This record gives sequence, structure tokens and C-alpha cells, in this order.
Amino acid sequence: MSEAAPAPKPSNFIRQIIDRDLAEGKHSSVHTRFPPEPNGYLHIGHAKSICLNFGIAEDYQGQCNLRFDDTNPEKEEQHFVDSIKRDVNWLGYEWSGEVCYSSNYFDQLHQYAIELIEKGLAYVDFLTPEQIREYRGTLKEPGKNSPYRDTPVAENLAAFARMRNGEYKEGECCLRAKIDMSSPIICMRDPVIYRIRFADHHQTGSKWCIYPMYDFTHCISDALENITHSLCTLEFQDNRALYDWVLDNITIESRPRQYEFSRLNLEYTVMSKRRLSALVQDGHVEGWDDPRMPTIAGLRRRGYTPASLREFAARIGVTKQENMVEMAMLEACIREDLNDNAPRAMAVIEPIKVVIENYPEGQTETLKAPVHPNKEELGERELPFGRELYIDRDDFRESANKKYKRLVLGKEVRLRNAYVIKAERFDTDECGQVTTVYCTYDADTLGKNPADGRKVKGVIHWVSAEHGVEAEVRLYDRLFTVPNPGAEENFASVLNGDSLVIKRAIVEPDLADAQAELAYQFEREGYFCRDSANMDRLVFNRTVGLRDTWAKIGD
Ligand code: ATP
Ligand code: MG
Repeated sequence: MSEAAPAPKPSNFIRQIIDRDLAEGKHSSVHTRFPPEPNGYLHIGHAKSICLNFGIAEDYQGQCNLRFDDTNPEKEEQHFVDSIKRDVNWLGYEWSGEVCYSSNYFDQLHQYAIELIEKGLAYVDFLTPEQIREYRGTLKEPGKNSPYRDTPVAENLAAFARMRNGEYKEGECCLRAKIDMSSPIICMRDPVIYRIRFADHHQTGSKWCIYPMYDFTHCISDALENITHSLCTLEFQDNRALYDWVLDNITIESRPRQYEFSRLNLEYTVMSKRRLSALVQDGHVEGWDDPRMPTIAGLRRRGYTPASLREFAARIGVTKQENMVEMAMLEACIREDLNDNAPRAMAVIEPIKVVIENYPEGQTETLKAPVHPNKEELGERELPFGRELYIDRDDFRESANKKYKRLVLGKEVRLRNAYVIKAERFDTDECGQVTTVYCTYDADTLGKNPADGRKVKGVIHWVSAEHGVEAEVRLYDRLFTVPNPGAEENFASVLNGDSLVIKRAIVEPDLADAQAELAYQFEREGYFCRDSANMDRLVFNRTVGLRDTWAKIGD
């Protein structure tokens, strides 16, 4: 073979449906869409849907639209529209053509509603919202017909025109599809398709005081955009009957089909925008992009890369099985990416001083270390070294057993990328906490083992006291204390009080110029990136530790 064949993309039941539709000539190309409602920031569940929809368009040389499903003017904001566009692009996807808005189709939707009325398939109902609920029945009992169900077409048209002209109050009436009040599928029991809202809309301003409902809007928007495969999550399974009913009963050429897949659920977090919004509103987090949030903006600020989220989406796959994905799986994706790609640096998060007493006072030298151990092409970084250094508090003990391969009083350890030192004595403060360790160094151990064959096993990291720079380091832990906080009556009651711990660290001088959101491996500590929300000072967010610590939880 002259060239290796590309690895096959992992298939799934949706790709199989598409393959069949293409093979049977049902479609000649594929057109998907990602339809967020601009009522919050996107989360990692949306990333699954984005990777599915845009990924299919990419692999089949098809198209994928970004469509804002904006039929709830009171809950939606331009600010959310902007954040969603940014997040989709950041994940590495480009939508086809212009951004679409369901609100672009308000005129057409209004016409289709009139068509249904004219066909005797929709009526203006003057029952109160409470009565509508009562008349709807339950899963066990059929609903009953509204007294307005058989209003003549002409009267319905007139009433709908008055609705549109603002002659009724909110809730005074609504437009309902005339389907079947005893259908076993509740959403087929004469669903409301238009309601009155005297609210300005972020796209259409004050043009409308009636707004179409999601179920009526979504299928028509799909058809108007020539979507072939309309992919959504399982909770819309029942709504498919209504999706089909609407398209079957209006005059429209294109005929998209809806397919459902299971939504992503992730342990130790909540995923719905309603709950995420509550966390923001109630001040439990800094904002939608708080690095503890499962939002795309939060993960980006935390140091996740687009590639790691796409890899995660690929690993979880697409099925109809409801399940809960472990956080360890998400973290493995970013850890593998950063292990391969993140530049290395040294940072001392819990600093104590080391004084090397046999190193000449006032002398400094510049040592070199690779930016990445396996990527020579990234070159070397400079590490200033001097008589006074910082090491981590955890890396020194007065006495310890053999398992502790760090600095112990009277013993030797290697300073990473530098010399071997030996701890001679130490000072403590009034609480007995170590403040300074006095050491000697072996000048003949730079880049080589001690000449007389002494074995020095441990290696610890360090930063020059004179050259190191102070930085705030934010250590994040899971946001909730239980795996499924969404199942709690009050999910705020299971927030983890220690989900953020702030430390004052000393970091390698080059890190003073670190770029926002570009993660480094702080050697022996974990992966960290500069906090984009605090660029006026030096703040690093811990993206993820070096090893999986989730397995320990619950022990
Ligand atoms: P939320 O409950 O978080 O507000 P939503 O479904 O109301 O989610 P939309 O903005 O309407 O949010 O969703 C846009 C698209 O993203 C929809 O097609 C929806 O099915 C999909 N989606 C939302 N949440 C998830 C999830 N957890 N996993 C996979 N896809 C999701
Ligand atoms: Mg929604």
C-alpha cells in the first residue's frame, strides 16, 4: 500500500440513517442545524450536539446551519447570541451562510398559522391558561374539547387578526392546532401554537405581540432551511408526532425528519441552562464563564482546548441510551492533549525558602530546560538560578521513610533541571512551620550524576527567589459533592464549599508573559493556564491535575 487509508470515523445510528438515505437517493446531500435558544451560555452537552451536527456536515461535505431558536423574547438576550457564536467558532466550526434566526421566519410562520386556520386545523381559544391545563387531561385520562374548538373559520381568522393587532391581553386567548384531545401523546392534544406576549424581541423589536411556540416554529424553520436530518435530544421524542403533523398539514416543499439521541449527563455537575443560570444569579459562581462551570466558556477559561472537547464528544459517542458520564473521562481528554502539547514550566504553589549556603552570594546563572521533553523543536527555556530559591512545603521533611523521594534533612535531592542539594538545617516560625531550609549544593552535578557514584533518587521543582514572580493560583475541585446534583430537591444545598482554593505561588519568570487560556504543565503539579478574566495581574487556573484523582472520591 502506498498510503495508509484514513481511519474510519466512529459511526453511530444517525450516520447509518444518513448513509441509507444517501444510498437510497432520498437525499443527495446532508443539511443539519444546531438550534440553541439564546437564553444562556452553551454547556458541554451542547458541545456534544455541535460536534454531532457540524461533524456530520463536515464528513459528508454537507452543510450545517447555526439557528437561534428565539421564540421566547422575555428570556433571550443579544449577549447570549454573541457568546454562542463565539463558542461554536472556538470549538472549530463554521456555520453555512449567515446565522439563522427562527424570528427571521415570523412572517412565514404567521402565514402558515393562517393556512391551518383556513383549513379548519387551528382555532383561537379563549379558555384561560388554567382551564386549558384542566381540559388537557392526564396520561391516564383523555382531555376534553374546548368550547371554542368548533368556531367557524371566518371568526377564527378575525380573532387571530385581533390577537396579532394587540387587541387582547396576554393570556386572554391563544391559537391552538386542532388535532386530537384524546391522543395518547399529550402534546397532540390541541397544542398551543401562538400566544400573546407584549415583549420586545432582541431581533424583531416591537413588531410582534404574538409569538409562535417551539413545536410549531422548529419544524417549519427546519423545512424553510432545507434541513434534511433534524437531530435533537430524546425528550423531544413525543414532539416528533407534532413535528410531522405540522409539516404534513401546511404547504411546504421540503420535508426534514427528526431523529433523537440521548443527552449528555456529566457527573458532579448540572447541565440545564435553567440551573446554570440559577448558579450565576445566586452568586454561587463568578459568572457563566467561571472555570468550575460546565459551560464551553468556563471550560475554555479553565484551559480546555477545542480538540479535547471534540475528542470527548467522539469518545462518548451518540446513542439512544440515557447515561451519566464520569468526569474522569472528560479530564482524560484534556490531560492527554496537554501532556502531548503543553509547554513545561516550574511553579511553587506552597513556597518555602531554600538558601544554598555554599553558593556564592550575589551570583546568578542561567540554566536551560526543554520547553517540552518530547518536542525538541519547541526549543529551550531559560531558568535563572541563584543562592536563594523557593521549593514547595510538601517537598521537605525533617525525617521520612524511603518512599518519600524528596528533600529530607541530612539527605540529597535533585533540583529539576539543576543541581543536587543537601538539606543541612532549617528554621521554623512560632507555629513550628518550616520557613527556610539551609542547604549545600554539589557544583559538579549539573546535568550529570554525582562523580563518586552517590545515588540521588528524588527530583523536586523550584523557582529562583530573586527572579521568580508572584502569582495567584486557583485550584478547582468539583462544584458539587454528589454525582447527580440535579436529582436533589435543592441542588444548591450540595454545592462543594471547597470547589475553589486560592494560593499565592511563585512561578518561573517567563510565565509573567503567559498568554490567556494557553495551558502549561507546571512540572509535578498539574496543568494550569492564565486566567483570561484577570489579565491585569498574574492569575493561573488549574485546568486538571497530572493524574486522575476522581477514582478516590467516595472512598
Ligand atoms: P438546556 O436544558 O440546557 O437549556 P436545551 O435543550 O433547552 O438545553 P437548547 O438551546 O434548546 O437547550 O439546545 C440546543 C440543542 O442542544 C438542542 O438540539 C438540544 O437537544 C441540544 N442539547 C441540549 N442539551 C444537551 C445535552 N445535555 N446533550 C446533548 N445535546 C444537548
Ligand atoms: Mg430549550
